[in-house]
Formats: sequence, structure tokens, C-alpha cells
Amino acid sequence: MKISEIRARLDATIEANLDSNIDRLGRLVGQPSVAAQQWGIDECADLVAGLLHEIGLESEIMPTGGSPVVYADCAGCGDRTLLFYLHYDVQPPDPLDLWKSPPFELTRSNGKLYGRGAADDKGNVISRIAAVEAVRAALGDLPCNIKFVIEGEEEIGSPHLPAFVRKHELKLAADACIWEFGGVDFEDRPTQILGMRGICYVELAVRTASRDAHSGLGGSLFDNAAWRLTWALNSLKGPDERIRIPGFYDNVHPPSDRDMELLASMPDDTDWIKENYGLSGFLKGETRPVELHRMSVFEPTCTICGLTAGYQGEGIKTVQPGEARAKVDFRLVPDMTVDEVVEKLRAHLDAESFADVEVKFIGGELPARTDPDHPFIALVNEAAEAVYGMPPVVKPLSGGSGPNHAFIHTLGVPIATAGVSYPGAFVHSPNENIRVGDFINGTRHIAYIIEAFGRS
Ligand SMILES: [Zn+2]
Repeated sequence: MKISEIRARLDATIEANLDSNIDRLGRLVGQPSVAAQQWGIDECADLVAGLLHEIGLESEIMPTGGSPVVYADCAGCGDRTLLFYLHYDVQPPDPLDLWKSPPFELTRSNGKLYGRGAADDKGNVISRIAAVEAVRAALGDLPCNIKFVIEGEEEIGSPHLPAFVRKHELKLAADACIWEFGGVDFEDRPTQILGMRGICYVELAVRTASRDAHSGLGGSLFDNAAWRLTWALNSLKGPDERIRIPGFYDNVHPPSDRDMELLASMPDDTDWIKENYGLSGFLKGETRPVELHRMSVFEPTCTICGLTAGYQGEGIKTVQPGEARAKVDFRLVPDMTVDEVVEKLRAHLDAESFADVEVKFIGGELPARTDPDHPFIALVNEAAEAVYGMPPVVKPLSGGSGPNHAFIHTLGVPIATAGVSYPGAFVHSPNENIRVGDFINGTRHIAYIIEAFGRS
């Protein structure tokens, strides 16, 4: 059979199965699975295992020390193995009053499917299931082996996944991996994201007194926790955006010529960002799109995510806070490590006379990426072009972070992205949704990848 005929057959099967797969998505969205609150996690793992079983895959629920991983595999007629990493947990639905439909009830309206997890990540889970089902139905057999790893703690930073992958390295062994997300950009072009920055998340805390004090007393005589903390924070980064922790940039690699070429081929989304966030401009007054693309992924960052101290209510309260806290995240670029950031931060605070500022490590992920010229990336991009009618926009790295390092570093697999999302999906927000057209195309893309992977 010619490739065009195979693909036409896959398309027809996916179209014919659309309603049953939207129904599956409805069942999955209908089961709350909020990792942050341990709400419905075990029930959702059971449901996912059942959905995999429905399409004839052997599935099992594997313990991790936290939420279980749902694992499934299926032998194909080829030697090669394609691994799908996904997650069944979701973000809390709050604030509830901003939802136009119930968050845990899949609601179809105006060509869109609304519900918590519709895009992140239950829509992708079902699109993979639908694609595997379609390939089997259309071609009679799977052309490659398929494995699924569907975790339940992605939205809380995948604390148990790296150890799980190390422990089950042989069982999870594969030749390539499709990541949990993907889709189209703000101009409906498919996207390919080759990696993720790492992250080091800490809380800085200062206690200067056993209780808050009258500011007429404390302000004159003893340390103010809020001042101690803001001075410490001030020592981390200047208005020039340069992070002042000694040695912070030691393991930062500048982008290669190939990376810069990819950045230059990315569309200019600066107006879109400005409009969506109500901005007048960008850091350091930068206006050049390529430089902004470079800054957004190849520079490490130090971000104050939250600050708490003293009185913030209405009117006057003359109080000197005895305690102050800040949440700070550092985004890391290859080859920085989480441990070195914590160590260098501690050494810096001590050297700057902030030994009283406690650093509490909350979580971290390493940076990791796949070579833009890896043949698997070419295969996934070719499949994307066949589905979307244009080649994908290739981003050498994403600004965000995730557990891809566990797969890239431990299993040694290349990772590509493909999925059902779009910029209006309101991921993590009220009215999360996907467009039915993207659900179909995302499923077609995965089916084409499976077919091409088996053939290659
Ligand atoms: Zn998410």
C-alpha cells in the first residue's frame, strides 16, 4: 500500500471513531484527579488502566511512593519501541466561579471541548489511545512496539518519576519517546519543542524575632524580617537582570549556531505576548525577536514567585514583622544542575552576611534536550507536515520545565512533542478546552508517527 493510501485509511478510521473517543475523553475528564489534593488519584489510575485495556493493551498500576504510574505495553510486528509519556493528574479547578461549565464534566460547545484536563493532559492521553486503536484497525497490526507511562504527579513536579524510571529502566527501554504535550501555535502552525529548561524551586525564610512587634519599638531597635529578606533578595539579581550568585553561569552553554538558526526561523510572537499580558515592553528594553527568543530559553532566570511579610490589609497597622518568606524559582539551562544552584545560593547568602536567611529546597528538575538533527525529530516533523500542511516551528528548548531529563538521561531516548493543544486552551486556568479539529489532527499526527516509526 502506498503511504498516501495508508494515511487515508488512518484518517477515515480516526474520523469514524471520533465520537467514541470524545466519549472516552468525557469519562476521563469526569473523574477528578487533582494531585495537589490527592483527590481522585487512585480512581483515575484505575480508569486509565481500563481505557488502555479497552483497546487491547495489557495495563498495570505500578506504585511509585506517591501517585501510581499506569503502565501498558503492546508488541508490534517490528523491533522498534515507541514510548508515550503522559500524565493523568490535573491542576485544581479553582477559581470555580470563573468556569462557564462544570470543570469535571466534558462540555462540547462551538467546536470546543471544555473541562479540566481537556488539554493538559487527558486530551493527549485519549489522542494516543485513539491513534493506537486506529493504527491497529486500519493496518491490522502495530508496526512497532508501544509502551505507555502515564504518571499521576506531573502537576506537582513529578517527585517520584525520575526514581521510578531508574528503577524500571529495562522495562521502560525504548528507541524513542513522544512527550505529553504539543499542538499548534498562535497562527495554527504545528510546533516541535526539543527540550526543557530545568528548575530549582526554593523558599527563603527569615525570622528576626519570636513575634511581630510594635514598629515604634522594633523599628528603632531590632532587625525587621521584611528588610532582611528584601536585602537578601536584592543581592541575588540586579536591574541589569544579571544573577549575582558567584559561579552561577559556570555551566551555562550558549546556544549553538544551529540553535540560533532555529530561533531565527521562529515566528515573531512578541506583539501577541504584549497584548495578552498588557505589557509595554520586555526586559532590558529588548525589542529584537530573535534575541527575545534566545532570552526566553537560553538564559537562566531568578524569579520571585511570591513574597509574604507583615500586614497587607486595609488601612494602617504599625507593625514590624518578625518573619518574612519568599518563594523563588531558578530556571536552568543545559548543563546547570539543581544541586549546584542550591549550594551556590547558600554560599552566596553566607558570604553576603545573610546567614540568617534560611534556604528551603522545595523541588527541582534538570534541563534536558534532544538534538535538533536527530532522525526521530525529522520523522515526527515530516508526519506533522503531512497532517497540518506545513512544517512545524521548531523550538530548541521550552522555557518551562518537566521530567524529560529522566527519559533523556536515563533511558537515552530522543523525545519529540505532538499533541492536541493550542494557545487558547487556558491550560491550568478556568475554561480549559481543546478544539475538536486539534483533537482530530493530534490523533492523526500520532497515528502517522507510529506508522512511519514502524516503517523506518
Ligand atoms: Zn499542566
